[in-house]
Amino acid sequence: MIETFLDETAASAVDTKKTDKRTARPKIGFVSLGCPKNLVDSEVMMGLLDRAGAEMTSDVEAAEILIVNTCSFIDAAKQESVDTILEMAQHKTAGRAQRLIVAGCLVERYRDEIRKNIPEVDAVVGTGELEQILAAAGLEAPRPVTQEPSPFTILIGAQAATAPSFRPEGDLRESQGRFSRNAWDGADTHLPQYLYDHTTPRLLATKKASAYIKIAEGCDHPCSFCVIPNLRGKFRSRRFESVVAEAESLVAQGVREITLIGQDTTCYGEDLDLKDGLAQLLDRLAAIPDLKWLRFLYAYPNKITGQLLETMAKHPNICCYLDVPLQHASGPVLKAMKRGANSEIFLKTLEKVRTAVPGIALRTSFIVGFPGETEEDFEALCDFVRAAKFDWLGVFGYSDEDGSRAFGLDGKVPARTIERRKRELMKIQKRISKQAKENWVGRELDVLVEGESGETSLLWEGRSEFHAPEIDGKLYINDFGPFEELHAGRFYRCEITEAHDYDVVARVIVASGEES
Ligand code: SF4
Repeated sequence: MIETFLDETAASAVDTKKTDKRTARPKIGFVSLGCPKNLVDSEVMMGLLDRAGAEMTSDVEAAEILIVNTCSFIDAAKQESVDTILEMAQHKTAGRAQRLIVAGCLVERYRDEIRKNIPEVDAVVGTGELEQILAAAGLEAPRPVTQEPSPFTILIGAQAATAPSFRPEGDLRESQGRFSRNAWDGADTHLPQYLYDHTTPRLLATKKASAYIKIAEGCDHPCSFCVIPNLRGKFRSRRFESVVAEAESLVAQGVREITLIGQDTTCYGEDLDLKDGLAQLLDRLAAIPDLKWLRFLYAYPNKITGQLLETMAKHPNICCYLDVPLQHASGPVLKAMKRGANSEIFLKTLEKVRTAVPGIALRTSFIVGFPGETEEDFEALCDFVRAAKFDWLGVFGYSDEDGSRAFGLDGKVPARTIERRKRELMKIQKRISKQAKENWVGRELDVLVEGESGETSLLWEGRSEFHAPEIDGKLYINDFGPFEELHAGRFYRCEITEAHDYDVVARVIVASGEES
């Protein structure tokens, strides 16, 4: 459902005027905020708009329609979303744009407030209604006739979308109020159910040769600090063959690295009666010729099965990389977070992972300052980080989210303490990371070159299989070896020559595949 800020008569009158002013292909400026999952939603919306005849522009001054796809995971993300909407509203007032649309998680949470407080916004589109972006932009869905796609649009197959299924856990948690939005004034009470599929057009916004595939949406876990299930709805998986068809199409069009995402990728297929669904999916996708790297993000710790690890170890094109957000390591805090486990259990899991997939790079993230977190709890977390020796680690300060179970808990930790704990934990990790990166010096790795560094034209940037897109440390290239120039989107064999706290520097030896 689209919410417009005008009554129906006024809306159509304004629409007519605006349509008259538009060029044949309305120019759309699109801002995507938040995580890769939100980026895929943006790519789907851009694909739909592109197919309906719109033209994307990165020039905000030239845009006739401005769209902001928002994030509202934590306070900082909400603030960034609101700031961006206000900035785009100014462009609308002063520039050429005639329409401003707000999409994404902020809409699911603050649908009415956006409407009341930012009159420049013409329409809002929630996470479960992506296809409504066309109506919000005043465009019509194209009739299903043969149409030449834009060279940037990934049009995949021609099958109809099917309704999602849910896990029994999701239905149970729904009956327990897990997804309730009753405390959210004006929120649409219908939970999002949308899932794109291989027939949905996507306009990729990722760097050359790399793409995400969202294999599932929503989440059934009860984590007490998290409102994502309220925003995104119950866990539902995309059909197995739909994911395979999308991956094959992406690879046929030049993508060489696929990163599977979802709120929890390790639950993939549980609603489709698949046992070890993610392992089965990886096994199938890894067989796609020319797919050089395959990885997945957002594993849930107790869902890392022996079968999953065996599958990772079996295929050389499944990256030696595991992202497993643990959130904390102290038993009492994990219990209050409604996640369970403790540092001993986690250390055993990590040992199992490292034994099954030798050399694997491990990434995690933690929340510090959860209500009731004592100095002892924090020390337990620090000890765990020292023992676990992660390759990559992110720390978030607890954000008190209205609608989460933790919102009602006593023992809130002062902001200054949260900041101090964040700093201390990152200091510990910095030492671990520096030492680990020093051990990389002299190693030869395949590197996917991404292009000139944003920091200086003297350096280029790339990633190894141990670096996921966007989130991990940088790999800089300062020596092109035998090449005059490098090509973004290609793989090169490189030697690591320098190590810094989180970043490394490399020199090119040869183009990958030309070693012998
Ligand atoms: S697993 Fe927990 S933290 Fe992650 S999205 Fe689901 S509820 Fe939120």
